[in-house]
Amino acid sequence: MFKCPKCEKVIQKPNVQAVAANIVGGGTLKSIAYTCSSCSTVLSVTPDPYALKDEIVAAIKRG
Ligand SMILES: [Zn+2]
Repeated sequence: MFKCPKCEKVIQKPNVQAVAANIVGGGTLKSIAYTCSSCSTVLSVTPDPYALKDEIVAAIKRG
């Protein structure tokens, strides 16, 4: 178990929210933010695995 760094409550299931991360130099990257279920503090932001999967499948289909 781990605790939120802000409210210090135990986080059983963090919330996940879709966000668009700005890429320095231009463009955006479909990403997801993990947030505390109690106070909504952002715990982590990472590339959206589903968006990455869709892009890989599309690239394979293009050949
Ligand atoms: Zn919290």
